[in-house]
Amino acid sequence: MKKKIMSLLLVTAMFATMLTGCEQKKQDEGSQVVENVIEYDYYQDLNIIDDNYRNFYEIFVYSFYDSDGDCVGDLQGVIKKLDYVEYMGFNGIWFMPIMPSPTYHKYDVTDYCAIDEAYGTMEDFEQLVAECHERGINVVIDFVINHSSSKHPWFTQACDYLRDLEDGQEPNVAECPYVDYYHFSKEKEASTFYQVSGTEWYYEGAFESGMPDLNLQSDAVRKEIQEIAKFWIDKGVDGFRMDAVRYYDRAGVQANNEVLNWIYSECTKLNPDFYMVSEAWEPLGTITQYYGSKTPSMFNFDAGQATGMLFKAGKGYMPVGDYIDQLIAYDKRFSEQNPDYIDAPFLTNHDMGRVAEACVNNEKNMKMSAGLMMMMNGNPFVYYGEEIGMNSTSDKDENKRLPMYWSDIVRAGTTDGPPKCNLGITSSFEAVDEQLKDGHSILNYYRHAIRLRNENPEIARGEIKKIDALCTDTYGVMTKTYEGSTIAIAINNKDEEVQINLSESEIAEMGIRGYLTLQGEEITLKDGVLTLPAKSICILK
Ligand code: CA
Repeated sequence: MKKKIMSLLLVTAMFATMLTGCEQKKQDEGSQVVENVIEYDYYQDLNIIDDNYRNFYEIFVYSFYDSDGDCVGDLQGVIKKLDYVEYMGFNGIWFMPIMPSPTYHKYDVTDYCAIDEAYGTMEDFEQLVAECHERGINVVIDFVINHSSSKHPWFTQACDYLRDLEDGQEPNVAECPYVDYYHFSKEKEASTFYQVSGTEWYYEGAFESGMPDLNLQSDAVRKEIQEIAKFWIDKGVDGFRMDAVRYYDRAGVQANNEVLNWIYSECTKLNPDFYMVSEAWEPLGTITQYYGSKTPSMFNFDAGQATGMLFKAGKGYMPVGDYIDQLIAYDKRFSEQNPDYIDAPFLTNHDMGRVAEACVNNEKNMKMSAGLMMMMNGNPFVYYGEEIGMNSTSDKDENKRLPMYWSDIVRAGTTDGPPKCNLGITSSFEAVDEQLKDGHSILNYYRHAIRLRNENPEIARGEIKKIDALCTDTYGVMTKTYEGSTIAIAINNKDEEVQINLSESEIAEMGIRGYLTLQGEEITLKDGVLTLPAKSICILK
């Protein structure tokens, strides 16, 4: 226990050092546009549909890009990098929390209707939303309502009130409505209950004492949430990423689903196209149950994570046929609960070691895992830095959230230079500026994969069919059909080239429409034989 506290102090000190260490750097040199644009001659026309099927980029504002030289990323920094986000083909961004908070990660909110001053102002946010929308990028913000900060005025006022109660006097919501906002109890009901100092009262904090759980069954709390949701929807926000939904109510999934369904209905009353994606960090069976909330998306923790399906298939441990079976199984399970569901696959997020760590810097496996995610239905979520193979260590959360590695050339602010607070973690792959120039970089692999999604709406939305006759231990083929249009996706996830004879199959008439290979190797279709190089993916139509 003591050791843990020491290491936390050390990390905090390192972050503080980072902040002061670069204050003398010159001011930002201005907007950075994407240079060295690489055009591929095999691109098809874009066919982007303006709906809630999108390619999302997860941004931690703190570590993304600093616009004013104080070494903390900010909203103006994000605005400067929107050209990059758009260039990559993303048309949705999930912003980790942006509301005022005492912590660097901001998952404990002190004011639900404001912007943390380290990140900028509400005007900056309004500009950010406008500039995203101009580029066809939807904005999804983290909505952290399982708990507030213990420094939120609701909580501090409730605690002050409890402290002032006479011996034996019961709290009265007419005197202090905030005593109903949290789970106060005279019993320490679980190990996650903490004492209100100077009283005999306890409160629930599922994560930690600084994050008291809100009472989501309270009418007064629901009224607050309604107003907060309206506030952000009026600002133009297109969706919420619901944090920690499995902790909403100790009664379990059904109670949590009721809360989710209620918030979603309130939001869609204000904007019928409103999107919602929820974090229920659970096994597949429970994630499936969460679709009973009738809300659009649950992060697919079965496909993601280092031990998940995508890395197994990407590394070649899982036959392609099993990968296709799994995609069909997801669809069957989720659609039974919610016919309008949109799957939300990802490889890793801010709570996990990065893709480079999960693949021990094996570029082939990193690319293939990403390629397989990009062939899934729904909305893939790419964690900033993943597209350049940034590294991490899983020991501390800070080391999963390092500054975006834009360049080796130090410009203004650490978030534009090499990571300064990385505790010795270096990236095995080049920075963004170098990877942009290399047509076969990880960055360009991601860009091309996203491009395929933006050319072929069938990938995200199509009904999947496995072609059993074209699935072996080394390769596999599926079709996806959307609005009467069918594409085929042929995949080789092994390290050797394979040849697939399509001539007797149901896709014999199809031709190559696009493909993903590790280093730009060509995929050919001659006399009905499709040649797939090691770890490659081909779209046919
Ligand atoms: Ca800043």
